[in-house]
Amino acid sequence: APVIGVLALQGDVREHLTALAAADAVARPVRRPEELAEIDGLVIPGGESTTISKLAVLFGVLEPLRERVRAGLPVYGTCAGLILLADKILDPRSGQETIGGIDMIVRRNAFGRQNESFEAAVDIKGVDGDPVEGVFIRAPWVESVGARTEVLAEHEGHIVAVRQGNALATSFHPELTGDHRVHSLFVDMVRANRAPESL
Ligand code: GLN
Repeated sequence: APVIGVLALQGDVREHLTALAAADAVARPVRRPEELAEIDGLVIPGGESTTISKLAVLFGVLEPLRERVRAGLPVYGTCAGLILLADKILDPRSGQETIGGIDMIVRRNAFGRQNESFEAAVDIKGVDGDPVEGVFIRAPWVESVGARTEVLAEHEGHIVAVRQGNALATSFHPELTGDHRVHSLFVDMVRANRAPESL
């Protein structure tokens, strides 16, 4: 089974570890540069994107992460993780950096503060069956994407799921629902990326 790390600096790490295990991956928390060498894919959890970026700098893992993502490591970011995978943030807080990897511009807290949390059915390209239950918690949306970025889902006209090559991102949190189809999609991406070497 593929080994998939969850960036364990802040956020809902445990929920992703559980969801990945349910999707037949070997899941482990990762926070140090040397741990990055041992994984076939990486999840960047939801939480607070500025905090995660500052801790990534402190742990010396931001630059190694950028390098591995640039080199094609499969990555999946949810909510704050989506923000971290954006090449550009519309309204960054001071000191906020991203890993990048997806040619898109994101707007943080886009769905508003008043209704900080809501759920909505989301139809995702590549996920068969019923729509997934999208849990949005002070969620970002994707303001615009570049030519290489594929839009996988929208909610009320706003982009909430994207893929560019080996990088996948959602504004919402499938790890909180018990429905592992999005994690399975990511595990399949990781398996496909690994396949040539194991032939
Ligand atoms: N609003 C948060 C941020 O800017 C993301 C919230 C979340 O991950 N649920 O990082």
